[in-house]
Amino acid sequence: MIFKVAIVGAGPAGYFTAQALQNAQNEDLSFSIDMIERLPTPWGLVRSGVAPDHPKIKMVSKVFEKIAKEPNFRLFANVEVGRDVSLKDLREQYDAVVLATGASKGRKLGIPGEELANSLSAADFVPWYNAHPDYVNTEVDLSCDTAVVIGAGNVAMDVARILAIDPTELDPTDVAEHALMKLKESNIRTVIICGRRGPEHAAFTAPEIRDLPKLEFTDVYIDEKQINAAAKRVTISGEVEKDLKNNLEALKLIAEHIKKGVERKLEIKFLATPVAIKGNKKVEEIVFTVNKAENGKVVSTKETLTIKAGLVITAIGYDAVEYPGITIENGRINNIAGHVEHNVYTTGWAKRGPTGVIGTNKSDSSDVVDLIIENLKEPKDSEGITAILKSGHEIIDQLGWEKINASEVISGEIAGKPRVKEVDWKRLISLGRS
Ligand code: NAP
Repeated sequence: MIFKVAIVGAGPAGYFTAQALQNAQNEDLSFSIDMIERLPTPWGLVRSGVAPDHPKIKMVSKVFEKIAKEPNFRLFANVEVGRDVSLKDLREQYDAVVLATGASKGRKLGIPGEELANSLSAADFVPWYNAHPDYVNTEVDLSCDTAVVIGAGNVAMDVARILAIDPTELDPTDVAEHALMKLKESNIRTVIICGRRGPEHAAFTAPEIRDLPKLEFTDVYIDEKQINAAAKRVTISGEVEKDLKNNLEALKLIAEHIKKGVERKLEIKFLATPVAIKGNKKVEEIVFTVNKAENGKVVSTKETLTIKAGLVITAIGYDAVEYPGITIENGRINNIAGHVEHNVYTTGWAKRGPTGVIGTNKSDSSDVVDLIIENLKEPKDSEGITAILKSGHEIIDQLGWEKINASEVISGEIAGKPRVKEVDWKRLISLGRS
């Protein structure tokens, strides 16, 4: 029996769903997979989220392309659910619909001054430097000397690194051309990451922390006393988990690392909760309450800390974006273990929230495919997406995407980069057409 499955969203969770479907095929069961993507380009966060100076993480795109080469896979990029096709129509045309639409709305701090100019969310800043067509015009002013990044997770780390490194280090990467130009003119020389809890609660992962002392033109500062105090706290409270031990060791190495004495500085501060962003129309300073760790809890003290900075970027997590046909609860598509309703499922960040690395989506998607297979009965006699897309709607299929990909890679070869990303939606479509 051949079942038709529509996967909405061409990011890691979408591709791993397609892979799990392909792997589940046997003599009696096969799938025809249509991947639907709003942008003219696939790969989701691997294209528009992963930091340009982390090319190894992007190697997973080779796996995506292998999945896409299978004969039962079709790409329909430049198709938006809720605008070009409705979820209701997809439900009717397909045996199962999997929503792998991620979480792209940056969470807000909800503090006074958050709306000032140059107070940005990582949800706008990251796609800006990664050449996402919707974020080319994000207004970023890098004329100040100090930037603050709120949050102690890997996104905060990526954002801080991009601001703190010498931009020439981005020359051989696929960073957006418009961002590279602006970063080369940047006056920012100090970037301060602020986490509200202690080092033992930081959400960074050890490999990312270990990369920091390798930065050639930036000194990284962490207060050693804060790390030692955290290590003491966790040891007192019992056996220390391996990941936490690795994190604290990596943070301590940074604190102890001999500084090069260079102009560019990246500092990680802990136990500081932002309470206000101040400035005349534009960010000028960020006020924090200083916290302390007490009996396993983080409590605020009466002390405050004010950092003078002209740019603040909030990297405190993401929520899924609503579109017609779905409801969002706690930042995720309302679901029970990946089941949304009827024949609609969800996976990845849209399902579980913005947690885990790219590989985490593999097990998540495999679980949802098991659930789909359990629920499948008789294949529908339907046409799929071609029955519901308006005639004349221009799609980018796999061949079209391969043309865009080849063109970007060729431009990259000339410039000594892995690729030069095209940022203009219309030009992307015409590249896919030619
Ligand atoms: P995250 O790992 O959940 O970190 C969010 C940070 O924001 C936490 O430190 C959190 O502190 C803080 N925070 C939340 N609300 C706050 C508030 N109101 N005020 C101050 N701080 C607040 O999220 P993320 O950095 O966005 O990353 C998302 C996922 O992508 C993670 O799983 C991450 O590992 C992954 N990622 C991986 C890589 C990589 O592998 N290289 C790169 C980027 C992202 P509390 O803990 O106190 O809530």
